[in-house]
Amino acid sequence: MASRKRRGKVIAIDGPAGVGKSTIGTLVAKELGYRFINTGEMYRALTWKALEAGVDTRDAAALTRLANTVSWDFKTNEDGVIIRTVIDGEPVTTQIREERVGMNSSLVAGVPGVRKKLRALQRGLGDEGAIVMEGRDITTVVFPDADLKVYLDASIDERARRRTKQLRASGKKADPVRIKESIVQRDMQDLQRRINPLRQAEDAVVIDSTTLTMQEVAGRILELVRGGGSAGR
Ligand code: C5P
Repeated sequence: MASRKRRGKVIAIDGPAGVGKSTIGTLVAKELGYRFINTGEMYRALTWKALEAGVDTRDAAALTRLANTVSWDFKTNEDGVIIRTVIDGEPVTTQIREERVGMNSSLVAGVPGVRKKLRALQRGLGDEGAIVMEGRDITTVVFPDADLKVYLDASIDERARRRTKQLRASGKKADPVRIKESIVQRDMQDLQRRINPLRQAEDAVVIDSTTLTMQEVAGRILELVRGGGSAGR
């Protein structure tokens, strides 16, 4: 990897569900004139496709087959920043944000054949650089040679509060107790899975955003990209 000359840096961000990786990653990418991709969207897109097609989300062979037979496209938004996943010609939007998709996606993400396919796509997208990529294994597996690796964290209560606020802002009903439960369960699934679990890369800068605004976290990351400051530990 990293043999090709990159036209900008690769900034990798990992962290648990609801920690603000996408909001923060988008702010950072906009400021740098980079592109941004949320890789969870790819796992969610495949999960949605599987549910639509009636594929059992516990059937690893069928999921691997599906990952390798659907068509994957990536389109950059009009703003030139956010890269969106297009699966079998369908751009993913609100359909992948449903709770059943979120929960099942963390099972689908435990299938080695699925991870292999998505990892290759993610490397293809990031190889030329000038990108902010977020997920669960970007700093550890997809781009262990990233120019900057950030592990974002926040307390469970704060993550549940943010997710509730975000859902309500988009006009959806949100029960904070249910949301907290689902965050706890997804953390468990993501941290305990056998293949590429969520973990902090040894050389990642850890930023706890519990008491920080998204803008403040983005500001710290930008300081690090530009070579100043010492965010995190
Ligand atoms: O980021 P988001 O919560 O939308 O991701 C959905 C699921 O996809 C996560 O719970 C996680 O299991 C999986 N995922 C992953 N590796 C990534 C990104 C997401 O396993 N790089």
